[in-house]
Parts: sequence; structure tokens; C-alpha cells
Amino acid sequence: MTKDHIITLPNPHLREKSKKVGIITDAIKKVVQNMQAATIDWEESRNHEVGVALAAVQIDSLLKIVVVRNNYDNKDDHTFAIFINPEITKLYGEIVEDYEGCLSVKDVYGKVPRYTKVKVKALDIHGKEFRVTAEGFLARIFQHEIDHCNGVVFIDHIHDKPNAFFQLKENGDLEPLDYDKHVKNNRILW
Ligand SMILES: [Zn+2]
Repeated sequence: MTKDHIITLPNPHLREKSKKVGIITDAIKKVVQNMQAATIDWEESRNHEVGVALAAVQIDSLLKIVVVRNNYDNKDDHTFAIFINPEITKLYGEIVEDYEGCLSVKDVYGKVPRYTKVKVKALDIHGKEFRVTAEGFLARIFQHEIDHCNGVVFIDHIHDKPNAFFQLKENGDLEPLDYDKHVKNNRILW
């Protein structure tokens, strides 16, 4: 699979709840592989962005699966951690606003409030349950991706916040987006 298989807004599937995975069949393993390939292919087409993580809905497979790069600071590391049926069991720490983007929301970034710490439980590729605790940026990634499994896109958290929207310039900088002109009544986003 390639970046062209990644669905973007206004595709309504992005606002649907994904289904729990039952038995981890070869077909499920193929979905996991496809998610990774699409993320890496997407990243290779972008100059200033990293494909940090993906939820299965983003390749139009409405299953609760999330993949997260093991080392998103190193673009050469193409390995991922796999989370099947991921669930947040605890949100704690503080609520902090920071920038988020999404492979399914073209060129729009937002400052989204998220908890600084999470506990997550999931199944691995063999169907074995495991738990992780994450802080900071990784905690944000989990909240963003598990939202996808529940039909929530990051912009839904900042829908009515005029100062929370940004766009990526050619040089990689983020600049504020005119809310009234480009966000509020944008039929692609809502
Ligand atoms: Zn996303």
C-alpha cells in the first residue's frame, strides 16, 4: 500500500467508530503491514513532516488497530510498535496544548489540549495483552490515535477555537490560519 490509500477529510469513515479485532488472522496482519507501508510512503513524499503513527481507519479499514513508530526522531528507522484493540485505561498529569497534525487532515495543524500522561492496554500481534505508560509527545500520540479508533479527528477537539488552527508553509513553519475564512465553514473539515 501507498500514501494514496490513506483517506482524508471529508471522508465520513474518519468519523465512524472502528470495530474490535477478534482473532488475529493473516488478513489482520496484512492490514498492519499495509498501515506501516502507507505511513512510510506518505513520509517519503513530505519534506518537513514525520509519519509518526497511523490508525487502521486511515487506510479505510474500520478496525481498532494503531501503529506507532518505534523511533520517530530517526526517519531511517521504519519499525513500528503495534497496538490491537488499544484502550486508554488512565489519563492523568496535566492538560497541555501543543501542535498536532494528521495524515488524514491535509496541511491543517492545530493546537490541541491533551493529558501529559496516559496508560494504555492493547493486544500485541500474537493476541497477548500488554500495557504501556506514556508521557509527553507519546501520550499525545496515543490520545490522537485512539481517538481515530472512536471516530474522532483532532480538529474535533478545537472546533470552536479560532486561535487553534495553523497551516504548514513551504519552508516547514506553521502559521496561523484565518478561522473565519478557512476553518469555520470549511466543508472539507466538518
Ligand atoms: Zn491522525
